[in-house]
Amino acid sequence: MIVSVNKKNSNLVIISGPSGSGKTSICNELTKNPKIKQSVSYTTRSPRDGEREGVDYCFVERDAFEKLIKENKFIEYAEYCGHLYGTPIGPIREVTGSEKLFLLAIDVKGAMQVMKKRPDAVYVFIMAPDDETLKFRLKNRLTEDDDTINQRFMVAKEEMKSSKHYDYCIINDRLDDAVEEIEGILRI
Ligand code: 5GP
Repeated sequence: MIVSVNKKNSNLVIISGPSGSGKTSICNELTKNPKIKQSVSYTTRSPRDGEREGVDYCFVERDAFEKLIKENKFIEYAEYCGHLYGTPIGPIREVTGSEKLFLLAIDVKGAMQVMKKRPDAVYVFIMAPDDETLKFRLKNRLTEDDDTINQRFMVAKEEMKSSKHYDYCIINDRLDDAVEEIEGILRI
């Protein structure tokens, strides 16, 4: 029996939101619940300080990523700010029909690809309350240079236009409230 009794009754949950929306913090909170598991994406970007191979991402060279594309190993993949990111399909197949909720935290381009293949999934879009907060969060992370921050901010503004395609849109002003709201949607 599938535990999730959200409106769509699916155990696949897609969370998107611009860099700086607080999506990662939200997913970290949600996955404290043992009923929720998160997909580990592949990426060609370099690890940030503290990021662990196989936990935060599987970090691969572009050649290796392109080989995985050819082998149809991804349910979706997209280029984001010059780097490739992709969700492996294997773990999604493994959790089908299981009792766990499975989270994908992916960008809008990737989510649109998943929507075509898995319209049954639950789609949640996270937003920062306003542009100032978004920029502040991007800067505060101190992991990227100014050019990258500005690039991510521009992409964020574009991504926000796609929120209308999602089942739910959550404004992440206070982390606890946003997490509670999503837990309510997922009824966990
Ligand atoms: P970051 O470099 O900040 O970890 O991630 C940049 C963007 O790529 C974020 O919006 C993140 O959600 C997205 N992302 C992470 N993994 C994947 C993935 O597997 N596929 C896609 N399409 N986007 C991803």
